[in-house]
Amino acid sequence: MKFFRISCQESARLITARLDRELPLGTRLVLRLHLAACDACPRFARQIELMDRAMDRWRGYVERPADD
Ligand SMILES: [Zn+2]
Repeated sequence: MKFFRISCQESARLITARLDRELPLGTRLVLRLHLAACDACPRFARQIELMDRAMDRWRGYVERPADD
């Protein structure tokens, strides 16, 4: 089933992309299958999600609405 196989590089690209926007269902499934079969990518996904959450908190500090 070649359709379902993506490289770790492609997987990393999708993991990063899904922080910014919702991925199409098919893409999400393919990524999920890769994450289930791969050792390194779930770790990468966890790290980047932690980082993204930290960045959100940081953005909350710096982008406070100006009081006028
Ligand atoms: Zn991988």
